[in-house]
Amino acid sequence: MRCAETGFNLEIDLSRGSIDKVETDPGLTELHLGGLGTNAKILWDRVPPETEPFSPDNLLIFGTGLLCGTPAIGANRTIVSTYSPQTLLMAYSMMGGFWAPELKHAGYDKVIIRGKSPNLVYLWINDDKVEIRDASHLQGKGAVETEGLIRQELKEPGAQVAAIGLAGENRVYFASIEHGRSSASRMGIGAVMGDKGLKAIAVRGTKDVNIAQPAEFIKLCNEVLQYIKVREEKPIPGVMPILAGLGSPQEMKLIDEEWHTTNFMWGNSRTRRKDFWNKEIEEKWRETQESVRTRLISCYNCPMKCGATISVPGISTYMMKCFSKLTYTMAAYSDLDFGF
Ligand code: SF4
Repeated sequence: MRCAETGFNLEIDLSRGSIDKVETDPGLTELHLGGLGTNAKILWDRVPPETEPFSPDNLLIFGTGLLCGTPAIGANRTIVSTYSPQTLLMAYSMMGGFWAPELKHAGYDKVIIRGKSPNLVYLWINDDKVEIRDASHLQGKGAVETEGLIRQELKEPGAQVAAIGLAGENRVYFASIEHGRSSASRMGIGAVMGDKGLKAIAVRGTKDVNIAQPAEFIKLCNEVLQYIKVREEKPIPGVMPILAGLGSPQEMKLIDEEWHTTNFMWGNSRTRRKDFWNKEIEEKWRETQESVRTRLISCYNCPMKCGATISVPGISTYMMKCFSKLTYTMAAYSDLDFGF
């Protein structure tokens, strides 16, 4: 019995249309541990360095972390590795959300894609049943819209979908892969997915993940939960609010943006303003943020809730995390509401 990992990868060749479930060598995990290490080893072994990112021989590997899908707190990363069209070097990008734990529960540690499909397709992994399906009707659709359409088409609201949008389809060098409230955005990996003719991977899993010493493991997980709770109740006094808690994920909860506006460039290309934030602005910002923030949200099995759903009247509800709050308005706008 394999523990934490499932011991199986899915190998998909989109040129041939083949799907293989392949048992993996436990030694790979022993030597290289998590999803990133084992992804890198597979690329190292199987893709020669001179391979072009848009060659059918380039691999696009969706890996899961070793503890992903177990009760380990916040272990939910999907690691996508490939050769980057931006650098022509081995690259990876990670995203949170729910996709990787779902893949573990479907019975796989990785999905390894090679080749290129002549027509746009998507993968549907439903436990042991795996299909390559036509995606021509999804051509030109945005990634988030695609996720919804695939769920509807499969009549499976619990399916987790990772998809590309127009940028990926058109091999834009900074195209991302999107999934729910997360995004694997670095190094143009979405362009490689588009080059392979793969619009999305939908996955639904209902199996268990084995744990060698479950009682001890749960005890350790509970200690982490307890630590998070204690730190939340006792922020470090005397430091700016963003640093007073654990990590910086409380950003969608915080109203005090003095740290943001004082420590980043604020103003326009001619005038930098270090004294932008004041009590009046803070009150206005509180009013705005609390009126549009519908709830705080998290990735799979994470209590940090570092994202939020935002509902501004007149536009559809969307997700926001700290990186999209204020950051992009700083250079040009004093009207903070514009950020939402
Ligand atoms: S909710 Fe935030 S802190 Fe938790 S795993 Fe997701 S990105 Fe990380």
